Formats: sequence, structure tokens, C-alpha cells
Amino acid sequence: MAVNKVNRLKGTQDIMPDEACLWQEIEDIARDTALTYGYRLIRTPIIEETALFARSSGEESDIVKKQIYSFPDQGGRDICLRPEATASVCRAYIENHIDKAEGFVKLFYSGPMFRSERPQAGRYRQFHQIGVEAIGSYSVYLDAEVIMLLDDMLKRFGVFGHVFHINSLGCAKDKSAIKARIRQALKPSLNSLCPDCRRRYDTNILRVLDCKAPACRDIIADIKLGNTLCRECEQGFSTLQRLLQNACIEYAVDDRLVRGLDYYTGIVFEVTSSALGAQDALAAGGRYDNLLSDLAGPRIGATGFALGLERIIQAIKDKDALKTRGSEALKVFVISLGGAAREKCFYILSVLRKKGIACDMDYESRSFKAQMRHANKVNAGFVVIVGDEELAGGECILKDMKDSSQRRIPFDGLAGEFNSVKMRTKRNA
Ligand code: ATP
Ligand code: MG
Repeated sequence: MAVNKVNRLKGTQDIMPDEACLWQEIEDIARDTALTYGYRLIRTPIIEETALFARSSGEESDIVKKQIYSFPDQGGRDICLRPEATASVCRAYIENHIDKAEGFVKLFYSGPMFRSERPQAGRYRQFHQIGVEAIGSYSVYLDAEVIMLLDDMLKRFGVFGHVFHINSLGCAKDKSAIKARIRQALKPSLNSLCPDCRRRYDTNILRVLDCKAPACRDIIADIKLGNTLCRECEQGFSTLQRLLQNACIEYAVDDRLVRGLDYYTGIVFEVTSSALGAQDALAAGGRYDNLLSDLAGPRIGATGFALGLERIIQAIKDKDALKTRGSEALKVFVISLGGAAREKCFYILSVLRKKGIACDMDYESRSFKAQMRHANKVNAGFVVIVGDEELAGGECILKDMKDSSQRRIPFDGLAGEFNSVKMRTKRNA
């Protein structure tokens, strides 16, 4: 009976080794950059109670309404695959009493997120985000810092020509004023909005500004909003712009920019890249001063961003530069000639590997020529050769592939030969 092939789920991807080393490189760069700015790694669960996102993102947000992967578990609890990580990080902050222990913290995460969206280029059902959250402060310097950190990360990845779009939704009072202003401005065109936006008009008016439907976009572009910020919020927004100018970060003020989730307040931003297609947002973020208290935590300010790794990879022009950064690792390929030598070589591998030296051998008893070809293919820095003669003499031949020079080394001196060579096995994909 024919066996049916099992394929990956729609909207998910297999990241194969060649591509995976690029991912690894990006995550390493992101982590190193975040550490430089004082952000520390946090890992939260991939499954959470659905209520966490309903409470934080808002019942009317697209994420909760249409995109969340939720299901009852065996105990009948309503759980979900996380659609984003900000709410999880805030939950962890509250649950681990960080407000009492440290108060202010700067955190960094990286991992998969899940949204039931229509799969297309740049939009997946399992995708990956890298993000930071600075929790416990209202300072506009932190809004500037997360934007600068994001810009720094993008440049270190090799993404250029991206643009920051910034806006301020202001304090709670300003946000209500903006909502009223938008409702007023859209009223005459209500019937021309898409069905989703007609619903959003009552339930989530800010989200209308984020609609991708062309008809809605035209209407939104035409409305006049004017200034809705109070003096204090206006000043904060000017300070942010000064700080960004001092840091030579290019930005555009966009008074239509809102984020799709309820929890955003104050300064919000998005980064787009012309290197991407229709889904041109590389990253997005902003301030969420009400989120912690909405989750029954302390009343404290917070800001952060999340970037989409798949889109970053798409936007990097010179992928090879990043890949070769990861292939500098020293590799030793061990060639055995004959059954007895093979066993010795297998032992040599175990000695070298314990010392953290990346090495490998052929397990198929192929010819010397075939094994050498393989050593070249994997870019081995050195080749170790063991035949019957070497075995009898208690030594091996060490060949430096750079200049093809070779010499004889006793078995027990082999590992020491690599001590002076810089080892980088970590990224050796
Ligand atoms: P979009 O407007 O593209 O739907 P979003 O507003 O839903 O994005 P956020 O929740 O702010 O996105 O997530 C931040 C980043 O995560 C986005 O800028 C994007 O790079 C990435 N991202 C979001 N959804 C997806 C997805 N389904 N597939 C791949 N990347 C995504
Ligand atoms: Mg979306």
C-alpha cells in the first residue's frame, strides 16, 4: 500500500542548513548588539493562556479576532501559540515580581511567533521575531534608545536604505482625542471603507489607519488630522526627534502611523524597506504604558520593538558576506585508509571534538581521492591522513590545506597542533 507523504504545514518553512547559518549569524549579531545596549536575554514559553493576548492586544485586534492559534488543551484550558512576545514578556515581568526586585529592566528575546494569516511572500503562519522591551520607565530617551538599537542592528545585519516612520499617539487623553478626530474625519466616507474597516469604525477606529486595502488607503491619505497632542506629549515627541537627529537616524513623521494592537500609547514607529515587496515592514514598535497595569501589574511605562527575521533576510543584499562570517571556523577532515586506520581515526575525532575542534571523517570507506575531494568541499583547513604505515609508526600526516605543506605528527601531539589556531566552531554549520 502506498504511504502518503507528510508535508510541512501551509505557511511554515524549513530552514535548511545553508540558510540556517545565516539565521544563526543574524541572531548572534542581534544578541551582541542588544547586550552592548544593556538588554539581557529572556526566554518565555511559546504556549500561553489565550486570555493574555485577548487582554493585552485587545479583543478587537486582528491578532485576537482572526489570527490567533488557540485551542483547548486536555484540561479544557484555552491556550494558544503566542502571536507575539511583548505580552508574554510583561506577564513574565509581573509573575516573577521584577517590579519589586529590579523595577526597571531591559530585555531581549528571539523566537517563533504564530499567526493564522493568508500565507504569501513575507507573511507566514510561523514566523520569527527578535525584539527588545525596556520596562519600568516613561523616559523618552528609551524610545530613542530602542530606535537607535534597531537601526544599529539593521546596519550590522547589512540592511541599508530603510526608513523609520514615527508618530506619537500621545497620552490616554490625546489618544481619545485622536480617535474622535479620525471618527469625525472618516464619517462622510464610512460607506466606502472596506467591510473590516466599517466594523473597526465602531470597535477599533485607530486600526482603520493601518488598513492595507487600496480604497481605504486613499480615503485615509485624504483626511486631515491636525495636532492632537498635549504640550507634554508634544515636547516628548520633539525631544525624540532631536535625539534621533543627533544620532544621524533618518526618519519621517507620519501622523497616520498607528499600531494594530490596543496597548500602544505615546511614541510608535515602524521601519520599512524598499527592498521588500508588498509586505515592506521590517520592524515595528512603540510605547505601551498601560499594558502592565492592564495585565494586573504595576502602573509603569515601557517601550520596545519587534523585527521580523524572514523579512530581514529578504532585505539583506549581501547574504554571502554574512554566510562567510560563519564559515571561518577551522575544520579538520580526517582521512583513513583501511579498516584498522578507520577505527583509529574515529578515536582521533573523539579526542579533537572534546577539545572543541570541529572535525569529521568519511564513514563509507571511499577512496583517498574521494575523501580529499570531500575535504575540499567542506573547506577543511587541515587534513589528517592515517594509513597502515602511519598506524604502525604511531603517527599521522597533517596537511595544511592553505599551502599544501605536510608533516608527520605523533598521535598524542595532534590536538596540540591546533592550539595556536583560532577556533570558531560555534557557527560552523
Ligand atoms: P504587518 O503590518 O506586516 O501585518 P504587523 O503590524 O502585524 O505587521 P507586528 O505585530 O508589529 O507586525 O510585528 C513586527 C514585525 O514582525 C513586522 O514588522 C514584520 O516584519 C514581522 N511580521 C509580522 N507578521 C508576520 C508574518 N505573518 N510573517 C512574517 N513576518 C511577520
Ligand atoms: Mg499583521
